[in-house]
Amino acid sequence: MDYLPVFLRLNERPALIVGGGRVAARKVEWLVRSGARVTVVAPQLHPELQACLSRGECAHLASVFAPEQLAGVAVVVAATDDETVNAAVSDAARRRDIPVNVVDAPELSTFIFPAIIDRSPILVAVSSAGTAPVLTRRVREQIEALLPTRLGRLARFMGERRREVKKALGFLARRAFWERIVGGTTATCVLAGDEAGAAAAFAGELRTSQLTRGTASEHSGGGEVYLIGAGPGDPDLLTLRALQLLQQADVILYDRLVPQGILERARRDAERIPVGKEVGEHRQQQRIHELLLQLTAAGKRVARLKGGDPFIFGRGGEEIELLAAHNIPYIVVPGITAALGAAAAAEIPLTHRRLAHSVTFVTGHAGEDGELHWEALAQPRHTVVFYMGIAQLPAIVAKLRAAGARADHPAAIVERAALPGQRVLRSDLQHIAALAARERIVPPALLIVGAVAAFGAADAVGALAVAAPARQALA
Ligand code: SAH
Repeated sequence: MDYLPVFLRLNERPALIVGGGRVAARKVEWLVRSGARVTVVAPQLHPELQACLSRGECAHLASVFAPEQLAGVAVVVAATDDETVNAAVSDAARRRDIPVNVVDAPELSTFIFPAIIDRSPILVAVSSAGTAPVLTRRVREQIEALLPTRLGRLARFMGERRREVKKALGFLARRAFWERIVGGTTATCVLAGDEAGAAAAFAGELRTSQLTRGTASEHSGGGEVYLIGAGPGDPDLLTLRALQLLQQADVILYDRLVPQGILERARRDAERIPVGKEVGEHRQQQRIHELLLQLTAAGKRVARLKGGDPFIFGRGGEEIELLAAHNIPYIVVPGITAALGAAAAAEIPLTHRRLAHSVTFVTGHAGEDGELHWEALAQPRHTVVFYMGIAQLPAIVAKLRAAGARADHPAAIVERAALPGQRVLRSDLQHIAALAARERIVPPALLIVGAVAAFGAADAVGALAVAAPARQALA
């Protein structure tokens, strides 16, 4: 280890920055955030520093560097583009035992700046000891993505309650208590921005702990459910919150549509239980409900992982009804629904100023009992996305035609959107069913009907080629 990572308290202490450019501005920003009294020494200031000065966040000494300026200073940073000045600052500071950083010159520095993740009061500092700044930044980004935005709020929430807990619980019980707080509903609520829910969960947990004298082993229940939309299949299309909760869950209940690549993002030792609907729709939903109740009763944190979004043809509504009826805490994490994933992958804008002003998501199963208003769906400037419509394709086409849609009304099919082997078929109502049969389209696939379905390569020229390998316009 070439350096000892420590956190320096600079609140109200004087810090000197030599240099008035952009690089200096970055350092000033961090020093200001840490509460230091910052003075910038430079003949001229970059506009960013000028702005900082006019906000009263720093002072300015419009001159060149002179060693006397170091009197009483707690830290100094040299950020000029003149090597001799930087070396002079380093030398003067070291003679006075003042910690000094020279930007991009570890050999002239007695301390270096890490890459910082600021979720104050939680701070994460990453360093490669000056060897690979780009790698350091990458590591920081990866950690950053895993840390919930409200992590700092959670730390403060806990800090504000330390005394209360200290009074209520003995030494040994306290640690187990805080473990349950960070791993349980209280933390989940704070991180999701639900302060009232968090306060209630915290009070409940404290009461239980007092009754059981804080022995975790006597503590049953306490489970919770994360109803997570996994998006259309590409793991990179998960939300950050989905990823964070997958890292936290003890058990993952996942649907058939959720691919391996997404399950791999979950905590390595989490139990994974497939709950696809092959067995028969009704029985399987019943089994899911039983599992949710059993697992949460055993205190497990359960991620209920669904393809797309949980509330778009995902029976998420039924599951939260069950959880609410049993007083089981849950949160819902939205996902990119298949229609949006398919639209992006196939470059079919679902609305478009020229082509469509509204869009409807329909399940292909609906409509058999006259639930749907087919005349509205058949309007030329309206987009309809049919989920689970492939088996019913000829019937859907017939209903749209009977409701007034033209034979050449555009229609497209996106099979396996955002998954390996994705295919896009473009056609019109007259030909789409035969084309799908010929190409042996199988679920998961979506049918998109409307003028936008013909929005084609000509308009999309110059679009980012990310989806290109998967794209096969067969029509
Ligand atoms: N809750 C999911 C939908 C579940 S219904 C969501 O919001 O996306 C299942 C149907 O969704 C499938 O029959 C198919 O029509 C569609 N679907 C799901 N994933 C898909 C994908 N990757 N590509 C195309 N269609 C998909």
